Amino acid sequence: DMQDPHEIVVIGAGPAGAIAAALLQRRGHQVTIFERQRFPRFSIGESLLAHCLEFVEEAGMMDAVRAAGFQQKNGAAFAWGDRYSAFDFREKFSPGPGMTFQVLRSRFDQVLADEAARQGVRIHYEHEVVAADFDGPRPWLQVRDLKAGADAAPRRVDTRFVLDASGYGRVLARLLDLERPTSLPPRRAIFTHIEDHIDAADFDRQKILISVHPEHEDVWFWTIPFSNGRCSLGVVGAEEKIQPADGDLMGALRRWVEGTPNLRRILARAAWDTPANTIGGYSASVRSLHGQGWALLGNAAEFLDPVFSSGVTIAMHSAKLAAECLHRQLGGETVDWEAAFATPLMRGVQCFRTYVQGWYDGSFRDVVFYEQAQPQIRAMISSILAGYAWDEANPFVAEHERRLRMLAEVCRGGFRDRPLSDKAM
Ligand code: FAD
Repeated sequence: DMQDPHEIVVIGAGPAGAIAAALLQRRGHQVTIFERQRFPRFSIGESLLAHCLEFVEEAGMMDAVRAAGFQQKNGAAFAWGDRYSAFDFREKFSPGPGMTFQVLRSRFDQVLADEAARQGVRIHYEHEVVAADFDGPRPWLQVRDLKAGADAAPRRVDTRFVLDASGYGRVLARLLDLERPTSLPPRRAIFTHIEDHIDAADFDRQKILISVHPEHEDVWFWTIPFSNGRCSLGVVGAEEKIQPADGDLMGALRRWVEGTPNLRRILARAAWDTPANTIGGYSASVRSLHGQGWALLGNAAEFLDPVFSSGVTIAMHSAKLAAECLHRQLGGETVDWEAAFATPLMRGVQCFRTYVQGWYDGSFRDVVFYEQAQPQIRAMISSILAGYAWDEANPFVAEHERRLRMLAEVCRGGFRDRPLSDKAM
């Protein structure tokens, strides 16, 4: 449409931006993405949940994702001392896919962005959104072409609606002063990629492995195998524990692994060939997810914690809900974004938050490692671990706080003499 060359502008071409853009383009809208970086680019967040593939499918990108040859993933495994507990997503309570992938995000995000472009979305790489104005009848942005040199003036872009999918860039949260402190304490991760050479028979490449440090119970590791003989490896803990005083990230990561016998054994032959990196203070929140002419997607709004790999799934779920609302609004309907976008999105986010908090206070960790849980209850937990945190038919979603509290009591022996059945909950 020549009248409306930038009907919808999306900031950022990560998973949230690419999915939202494609869903809207497929419904006949004209979508432009401005992406600050050149792709492929590194991103953290390599283990996907099964639920997010529903959005990949709906955006018409499933064949391309399948063809990319990513490592298949069917669940999550947890290890702590000699305790081991694996959840298979295919044995879950909720409907939907039970398989997903572990991905190099540089490649995955490129596949999604290319698929969005193939469907007509215009993506301008190396274009940074630097200012936004929502006070007039129509929103407009200032966009800087990073290839044009430092003294080139930013260009004005008029649009009907802005979806902010800028992730850790948090563009509108900063420009519109929406930041709100998160309820989660500051934590830090140190991570790298290794040539893993894992030959341990008990290591399942189709699952993320979450290992807990034997003494520091709040310190945990992710091991995410890729399809090319490499792994993503990271350690997470309280900021003051994880940040090395001497700045030697690789040394610190290796020491944490050395202190965790099961992980040390699995990684005994690994080649540590890539410098470690670190990210901290990543949990974030905002006062509002939407306003006149804008909405926030994915990490640009809320980020909890990496422990259950929920980031990309929340990002895509938000993209789907926002695309739905925006399509209706641009078609002339009056849309209540609080009721149709923010509230349903946050229901799933709050559910994840309960289990994240339960991981760190120990209650959900006890549940994860409890060996006598009934299959039906494990299936309900598996559903949440697979990303189905919006399925209100699952009692562990619908009443997440109460159900977790009760189940944790059972696992800790509070009902020692009663069978762990759903009725006892
Ligand atoms: P992003 O993928 O961050 O994309 C945002 C894009 O916006 C970027 O490409 C950026 O260049 C662009 N941008 C930023 N500012 C501007 C600007 N001003 N103008 C134009 N473009 C801009 N999630 C999982 O699902 N699984 C995991 O295993 C996992 N592990 C994690 C481990 C750690 C330690 C952390 C901190 C997070 C982890 N996450 C994980 C979360 C995951 O990284 C994010 O949730 C996910 O990348 C969010 O996607 P997004 O599309 O919202 O943003």
